[in-house]
Amino acid sequence: MSSTAGQVIKCKAAVAWEPGKPLVIEKVEVAPPQKREVRLKILFTSLCHTDVYFWEAKAQDSVFPRILGHEAAGIVESVGEGVTELAPGDHVLPVFTGECGECAHCKSEESNMCSLLRINTERGVMLNDGKTRFSINGKPIYHFVGTSTFSEYTVVHVGCVAKINPLAPLDKVCVLSCGISTGLGATLNVAKPTKGSSVAVFGLGAVGLAAAEGARLAGASRIIGVDLNSGRFEEAKKFGVTEFVNPKDYDKPVQEVIADMTDGGVDRSVECTGNVNAMVSAFECVHDGWGVAVLVGVPHKDAVFKTHPMNFLNERTLKGTFYGNYKPRSDLPSVVEMYMKKELEVEKFITLEVPFAEINKAFELMLKGEGLRCIIRM
Ligand code: NAD
Ligand code: ZN
Ligand code: ZN
Repeated sequence: MSSTAGQVIKCKAAVAWEPGKPLVIEKVEVAPPQKREVRLKILFTSLCHTDVYFWEAKAQDSVFPRILGHEAAGIVESVGEGVTELAPGDHVLPVFTGECGECAHCKSEESNMCSLLRINTERGVMLNDGKTRFSINGKPIYHFVGTSTFSEYTVVHVGCVAKINPLAPLDKVCVLSCGISTGLGATLNVAKPTKGSSVAVFGLGAVGLAAAEGARLAGASRIIGVDLNSGRFEEAKKFGVTEFVNPKDYDKPVQEVIADMTDGGVDRSVECTGNVNAMVSAFECVHDGWGVAVLVGVPHKDAVFKTHPMNFLNERTLKGTFYGNYKPRSDLPSVVEMYMKKELEVEKFITLEVPFAEINKAFELMLKGEGLRCIIRM
């Protein structure tokens, strides 16, 4: 038992008081974990676009004041009632979506969309009592996607915590708790390219480059990167992307450009842009007879996907995936092992590191579109 178990912990957290305003490092009180909850000491966290979207709160409703953050790594400090699967000292990755282990989704081998712990961006409280575990002078500070990792300590449902190899360096594997696993799993678990096949990746941000990394691991021989920003191409070479297409350089639809390059279409495509036109292109650029396209990007709320039904009749398959189809608790430890065995390269995604006190710098860089992942050292 740690000396802090059962006590309120006072620690530093970066609080988002208002949309779009710099986060403020505050002293917060973190209550002990309740039933089926664990309290984590966060050691490293990184910034993902989803944090920025909910901080800006332009297109999404967001709750304030709030502690953002969901890509992270840490150590279990204490556990609440009924927690038997984790103990203080365990090395873990908190995840924005969970695995209760009991619902129909968790029991299905095909789904990772747990009905109890699936991502909920509107909820700012814990499930057990509908209250927050964070407060400042008695005033509640709300949670974000059940993780709130921009805090030295946080309280998380046990189903949203993956226990990992204690030898894994937490300053590296923290990036596996969201975007990188999403892109990697989209390719390895859903698109499933075979050795020697061709794969198109739409969008060369961190998620798309992780999808390319998956294609490289699967032994694809051609990996075609598609992005409107040619500035992304140089970096993408490190991720095994062999050819590049900027749709702006052509006066015909990019799906036709890709069909011409590949004698009728690619074997697989993975869309990681969130743009609905790119989604349609990603589907229409796969080869008839066997091609499979996988959508990963989160579209605008009013977007509508339009394609001619003949594209399906001609034996093209369209799929979508959430979190790369990984079940957080069951599957994430094996993604960490892929890194430990030096199959998966994680370092190349990490382009920057800042101390916790400079967390706002990470936001500024992401808004400027600089770098892939910025590690925040707590
Ligand atoms: P990012 O903004 O870093 O990268 C997106 C890239 O797409 C950019 O380089 C941009 O230039 C490019 N792009 C935009 N429109 C394009 C178009 N029409 N054609 C070609 N390229 C285009 O984003 P990211 O962090 O890599 O995330 C990618 C997407 O994945 C986002 O939509 C994000 O919300 C989504 N995502 C989904 C899940 C999931 O579980 N399904 C999880 C995490 C992230
Ligand atoms: Zn994320
Ligand atoms: Zn479940």
